[in-house]
Amino acid sequence: LMTTKEVRATLSDLDKKHIIHPVASPKRHVSQGPKIIFSEGKGIHVKDINEQVFIDGVSMLWNVNVGHGKKELAQIAHNQMSQMAYSSTFYGYANEPAIRLAEKIASLTPGDLDTIFYTSGGSESNDTAIKLSRFYWQLNGFSNKKKIISLKRGYHGVTVSAQRATGIDAFRNFSGSADPEIFNAKAHLTECELGDKSHPEYPGCIRSMIEEMGSDQVAAVIIEPIQGAGGVHVPPEGYLKAVRQLCDEYNILLIADEVICGFGRTGKMFGVDHWEITPDLMCIAKGITSGYIPLGGVVMNNRVAGTIKEYNDILPHGFTYSGHPTACAVGLKNIEIVEREGLVENAHQMGKELVKGFKYLGDKHEFFTNPRTVGLLAGFDLKKDPSLNVPFDQSTQAAVSIVEECYQRGLLIRCFDFEPGMNIVAIAPPLIIQKEEVETIISIVDDALSVFS
Ligand code: PLP
Repeated sequence: LMTTKEVRATLSDLDKKHIIHPVASPKRHVSQGPKIIFSEGKGIHVKDINEQVFIDGVSMLWNVNVGHGKKELAQIAHNQMSQMAYSSTFYGYANEPAIRLAEKIASLTPGDLDTIFYTSGGSESNDTAIKLSRFYWQLNGFSNKKKIISLKRGYHGVTVSAQRATGIDAFRNFSGSADPEIFNAKAHLTECELGDKSHPEYPGCIRSMIEEMGSDQVAAVIIEPIQGAGGVHVPPEGYLKAVRQLCDEYNILLIADEVICGFGRTGKMFGVDHWEITPDLMCIAKGITSGYIPLGGVVMNNRVAGTIKEYNDILPHGFTYSGHPTACAVGLKNIEIVEREGLVENAHQMGKELVKGFKYLGDKHEFFTNPRTVGLLAGFDLKKDPSLNVPFDQSTQAAVSIVEECYQRGLLIRCFDFEPGMNIVAIAPPLIIQKEEVETIISIVDDALSVFS
């Protein structure tokens, strides 16, 4: 019989030999092997095959909203798989879980966002939203309206159009660009969007780009209500409203990418609910199933859905797993858990605890700056400070070091190191987290920061 250590070594070798990992250095991976080989999860905790326990401080990829190990979700998947694991939604075929979930989502989303096109995840949702906005204009006789405007620091995924919409250069330019009709604007310049052309940064903001391209060329603007993977950036008051008005003024569709914000992460059901705007299309994924099974979708308002529903030919778009019955059954049960356990409200309340913790850290550590928290989507910056005992010539070293120190202390959080000078750390625990657990996270981050004080 092999010891756990031997099992780990074997798995590590096989991983190095057979898998290329997303968003990791392939070369470093081949030399170092997997950082953690996960085996179990319960609540906010995860365990590796050596029985080491970690707090999952970012809900894996901001998606395990109800926490790990919810047996109810396993049970509903078991039931649906036993009955009929998979059926297609092509050719007009349908299934009950997909129908029930669509009705549920329509009841949760703001305004008349009542119709869904199912996908398997966030990237597919954004590509679908971009295609459907162009299609919408085509059907209305505006075939030139193809351009898409997205924001710097936005992250929308890695499929062709989602990649181009992403405002992080490494992702946006990876392996050469495709979809040339997508342009990045400077993020969050409220004054510009309100029409202040004398603002020094006016060129490059959404409004000036529309004016330069001509609104007859622009199909949609795509934004995350709160940017996640670009470093947790919260828009200033009035920004999203201004963008909504801008889209109305120039007759352009607004796509909200709610892949991270959706389903309670920010202390409201959706990110846009904080600013009371309704997009024309809303992209969802991640929290819809808390990551228990892949699922995504694009929710459309009646304006967009109404036009598409008038189309008499075959719609040449769809994924094998669009409306996957097992995924939809899990999604429905997941939303039931979110509502029954009051997790949206808990995210709001626990967000306040995080704010308190951040205040404490900011008072204590000079290089802890710019904390931002909306529900349980939170981040902070590490100021470039020469007194910090890490080599700052490697510009992202501070955040990387803090994350590593937290990992050594049993807390998984993440940092953003894709651009020079970026020293951002993100915290986004499962929405079931309790006050004492928030305090544990803060105390571990405190210890990690103290190493460099
Ligand atoms: N949109 C946002 C806001 C995201 O955060 C992500 C993933 O992190 C995506 C889209 C891409 O989703 P997926 O990785 O499921 O394709």
